[in-house]
Amino acid sequence: MAGGVTRESPVTVLPGVGKVRAACYERLGVRTLGDLLAHYPRAYENRGDLRLLTEARSDGKSAVVLTVASEPKCVRLRSHKSFLKFRAFDDSASCEIVYFNQDYLKNSFPVGSVFRFWGKVEPKGKNGFSMSAPVAEPWAPGVPLRNLCAVWRMTEGLTRKQLERDISAALALLAGDTEDPLPSGLRKARSLCTLSFAERNIHEPESAQALLIARRRLVYQEFFDFSLGISITRSKGRAHGAPVCSNGDISRLTDRLPYTLTGAQQRVVDEIRRDMASDVPMHRMLVGDVGCGKTVCAAAAILIAVQNGRQAALMAPTEILARQHFQELSALFGAIGISCALLIGATTAKEKREIKRALMAAEPEQRLDVVIGTHALLSEGVEFACPGLVVTDEQHRFGARQRAALSDKNAHAHLLAMSATPIPRSLALVLYGDMELSRIDEMPPGRQRVDTYVVDESYRARLNGFIGKQLAQGGQVYVVCPAVEEQETQPDEVELCDLNPDGSVRENREEKPPLKAAVAYAAGLAQLFPEYAVAFLHGRLKSREKEEIMRRFAGGEVGILVSTTVIEVGVNVPNACLMIVENAERFGLSQLHQLRGRVGRGSRKSYCILVTGGTGPVGERSRERLQVMRTTYDGYAIAEQDLAQRGPGDFLGMAGDGSVRQSGALTFRLANAAEDAGLMTEAAADAKAIAADDPGLEQHPLLRERVNGMFSIESGLLS
Ligand code: ADP
Ligand code: MG
Repeated sequence: MAGGVTRESPVTVLPGVGKVRAACYERLGVRTLGDLLAHYPRAYENRGDLRLLTEARSDGKSAVVLTVASEPKCVRLRSHKSFLKFRAFDDSASCEIVYFNQDYLKNSFPVGSVFRFWGKVEPKGKNGFSMSAPVAEPWAPGVPLRNLCAVWRMTEGLTRKQLERDISAALALLAGDTEDPLPSGLRKARSLCTLSFAERNIHEPESAQALLIARRRLVYQEFFDFSLGISITRSKGRAHGAPVCSNGDISRLTDRLPYTLTGAQQRVVDEIRRDMASDVPMHRMLVGDVGCGKTVCAAAAILIAVQNGRQAALMAPTEILARQHFQELSALFGAIGISCALLIGATTAKEKREIKRALMAAEPEQRLDVVIGTHALLSEGVEFACPGLVVTDEQHRFGARQRAALSDKNAHAHLLAMSATPIPRSLALVLYGDMELSRIDEMPPGRQRVDTYVVDESYRARLNGFIGKQLAQGGQVYVVCPAVEEQETQPDEVELCDLNPDGSVRENREEKPPLKAAVAYAAGLAQLFPEYAVAFLHGRLKSREKEEIMRRFAGGEVGILVSTTVIEVGVNVPNACLMIVENAERFGLSQLHQLRGRVGRGSRKSYCILVTGGTGPVGERSRERLQVMRTTYDGYAIAEQDLAQRGPGDFLGMAGDGSVRQSGALTFRLANAAEDAGLMTEAAADAKAIAADDPGLEQHPLLRERVNGMFSIESGLLS
């Protein structure tokens, strides 16, 4: 730790990093040196795949070893521009190399010297080639060059060279910091390399094998830190105690429902009732497929809290969902004298003040019983005179950080989390290892089945006809396309999952089909169906705009909703009867199942059509994979399939396109291969053991630092 520099030091301690670059880093979520090292590469360039000029790739960059044949010439252009030009050759051909505005390189390429050039090789003239601004590394026998070179997610104003240099500098500055946060016994038992080896090799891999070893440690560490954090949050919560809500009679609610609870709902309500009657805070996760009726269970929990003199908060991930809950619940609660308010972004400042005041009212008669909102409730400075229960809907959308913040702010409240993501058992054990799990595994009677089809492009005309038919009958249509603005891995780049266990690069990577240009696609539909409104929902819209579009769709004004983002889980538009998913092969089965759950919510016969884009054997394989969707409607069975096919990434807060879905939420950055599930279980077990043994992490100051940093709660999880 040279000169007191630690992982917590800001990036500005690095030479040459000032305010401007720090602002760039901020956009990448990087503030400290530790953050910088955790800005893992998104892919690697395989510069070890040496080619002759005549065999260079036509679809990306190549590495060629060339001898300089002519002295670099500097050509000046008007307007202060210039370029440097020389020729170089290998056994197959010769090539012109050009650098723009870099006169200072003039003396770097003496005639006869040999370099490995990395760049795009373009044909030029009859038998020649050219390369523009290639990366050049001196090639000398016995001096090995790095074959795998990291490619990072970038941001405007930051060059790759700068990032490369800054990471190198950070690694060097922290090189003295050899103490490993993991006890060495554990490291040995799980055959893990040291953290400093891992961090160096993930960014600057000595070899493909070293890279895989590094990745394994980092994936383990991510799971481990997470598990440790939640284990500790939990034991902290237990120590606080919670209000005993002994009156668990919910007949006031059930008497007013137009249906009776299913057996599964009944069981869940019993579990909640039992939890809330105890002074140990409830910490329960309620999982159940879309439409299984979780909301009424939440209503029961809220009723129990309120009739025991306590208040409750219900938080949803979006304003649309919060509104929906408010409409449904305020009607129910109003009838039995429970007061309920909606607090969202659109709420006026005056109303907000009113609500906050009513929540803190000393007199029970004036006190507001229930507040419903988005998780912004956490940051809005909302406080309760008499907190009893916090319910979060679609909990998987909350990261660990929010979860910890929740427990921190409501240490004396019961917590009920709900999710429609049917997490496979093995993962649930790890992700929600700190929570009791309830499952609703039974649908209310009379649910219709959404007929599902897997088709390819050849079906397009019939598909359009089918859309027209549904619209004509008064139905509404969802079309989901994978994100347009996604950053694709270049053909010359290697992803970690493309490496074989022995470090060699896997050949014949599957060709990815081109993405539907969603904008053009929406415009095309608008032309085809001029008498209906077509709306386009995409990730770049402000949340206000998104909400507005969703509102118009829900109100029936919009006939076709084309969306590049996954439509909010839980959104209820009963009139929608057709879900079309374009490039369906790019989604996980569980995501498709979620999407399918958007239709079939009303009385209309509903359909889900999965359109695949691939051709040839690749297309064939992806259609095969999707066939499960035709016959299986059980979210858990689908989730297990998904885990086997695609690994845990989808369940860990990654979007379908591999991008990270939510900032602020803790996501796993590296975990995405199927084999990680085993590592995850090991890491969780190890973390649990350490937390049980040493809940204050007194013996493990480095782990303590990591956990506090990761969960970054004002007070620190462990003080
Ligand atoms: P989710 O679990 O996806 O949140 P909801 O709570 O929104 O599902 O319930 C979906 C629909 O099912 C609602 O319209 C609700 O009124 C209805 N519902 C819930 N429970 C039952 C039941 N036991 N019998 C019939 N309908 C029910
Ligand atoms: Mg719901």
